[in-house]
Amino acid sequence: PKTLRLILGDQLNSKHSWFSEVDPSITYLMMEMRQETDYVTHHIQKIVGFFLSMRTFSEELIEAGHQVLYFTLDHPENQQNLSDQIQWLVQKECFDRFEYQLPDEYRLDELVNELCEKLTIPSVAVDSEHFMTSREFLKDFFKGKKTFLMESFYREMRKKYHILMDGSQPITGQWNYDQENRQALKDRKLLKKALIHRKDVSSIVEMLEKSGVKTLGTIDPENFPWPTSRQESLEVLEYFCKNLLECFGAYQDALTTWDPYLFHSRLSFSLNTKMISPLEVVQTVEQYWYQHQDRISIAQVEGFIRQILGWREYMRGIYWAKMPDFAELNFFGHERKLPDWFWTGKTKMNCLSQSIGQTLELAYAHHIQRLMVTGNFALLAGIHPDEVDRWYLGIYIDAIEWVEITNTRGMSQFADGGIVGTKPYVSSANYIKKQGNYCDTCAYDSGKKTGPGSCPFNSLYWHFYARNRENLEKNPRIGMMYRTWDKMGNKQEVLNQAEFYLKNLDSL
Ligand code: FAD
Ligand code: SF4
Repeated sequence: PKTLRLILGDQLNSKHSWFSEVDPSITYLMMEMRQETDYVTHHIQKIVGFFLSMRTFSEELIEAGHQVLYFTLDHPENQQNLSDQIQWLVQKECFDRFEYQLPDEYRLDELVNELCEKLTIPSVAVDSEHFMTSREFLKDFFKGKKTFLMESFYREMRKKYHILMDGSQPITGQWNYDQENRQALKDRKLLKKALIHRKDVSSIVEMLEKSGVKTLGTIDPENFPWPTSRQESLEVLEYFCKNLLECFGAYQDALTTWDPYLFHSRLSFSLNTKMISPLEVVQTVEQYWYQHQDRISIAQVEGFIRQILGWREYMRGIYWAKMPDFAELNFFGHERKLPDWFWTGKTKMNCLSQSIGQTLELAYAHHIQRLMVTGNFALLAGIHPDEVDRWYLGIYIDAIEWVEITNTRGMSQFADGGIVGTKPYVSSANYIKKQGNYCDTCAYDSGKKTGPGSCPFNSLYWHFYARNRENLEKNPRIGMMYRTWDKMGNKQEVLNQAEFYLKNLDSL
């Protein structure tokens, strides 16, 4: 029997059991599709990153002896969508069986299910053999609970995979080092350059231009900086362990104009395309720490492992527990449009112009830039979560819906009313000032709440609490804020200032 096996763009897992044997009756199918380039406007580096990684992966499969059908975006027989392409191929090549790995996106899952119903040959789904939990694990773990506390999930994962554990206890007697991991970076000399793979991607860029694919952001076609193979991903991981891990935790929340990557790993694209697995990343880092405890403290390592073993798996669990309803949630009923400068970086607010500017240039911003600068602003300004989602889903190299929407709509915009977080991540200028140097050269005054030049974060912050009082006051982690607000002298002035900024978002 002839079997057709589908490999989606984010299923580049060369360790998958599919590939353990070469079987001439099996054909692998990979394709670049308008369906995927066009469902949202993507950063050009994101599309190039996916296509180059897919092409490299298919070449590696062919080298290993597998049969691969690869359709580039400009291939004359490319039907540009999954369903048509597969039905056409099955008929043309007389396949007897269709196999696929479970997709991670709800949209693609539905699409493949519909396709299987249309096909006249049997179809079989297999696991993608990437995640450390099944789609249902988290839903079952929190059965009957209203809030899904990340910390309890994370501890369960530490035990389950025996990471940083001594028997049933954490190896250092403490589960969580968050308290130590919130420092601003004061000493520029600590910084190390990121490991950048410079590749020529001119031919893909040209193809995209010729095909008329709409993109955003910029690219240097002769210096594409992202890892696009398993080998390069492993190099980035090794570089991280040797050079960045020792400062990762301490400065993971730092904000600075000095460097776009700080001590972050830059592994999200490699992980999300499955070129490397979360378990191997976590175990590599854990082992590295065991061998270098003289130089690297547990707080650094725990801070990193928590992101992958905890947050990443947790977000995937939330996604499958709560989709498709999650994509519609808008707890605060926010309605505004994103200001135009989200697409250009041209705003006088330095924190936003830096974070958006680097995003347009690199398709990357680190977590605190996403959460406490762009996300924080969007939430304070009452932007519709659909608008916010569309921006985050298009603009980052690592943006795939299962991890984007849970972070954006859930963690960052609190549009889920508190499934992911126990309270909204909002702050005034105070936090941004404390975490780094953005405020030092800003046109706005971080110390002022009202009047010309007052930092918009300050008045918008109180406006957010005032307008959402009914929704938030009963939250035990927030009630205190309302006592501060009630005691504030110039409430009306603050609200007026915020109203003024809200009416003039495009010119901030
Ligand atoms: P590091 O700081 O080095 O962290 C290591 C790894 O931990 C990351 O590669 C990532 O796989 C994982 N990780 C860290 N934080 C999270 C998190 N909150 N959720 C899931 N995994 C996490 N991450 C994405 O992969 N895709 C997205 O589309 C995405 N959108 C986000 C949107 C918003 C509003 C926010 C606040 C966060 C988003 N994140 C997203 C999470 C996080 O910001 C990125 O994973 C991280 O910045 C990627 O850079 P890095 O690889 O250098 O991460
Ligand atoms: Fe951002 Fe306000 Fe600081 Fe300017 S003053 S960098 S707008 S927080």
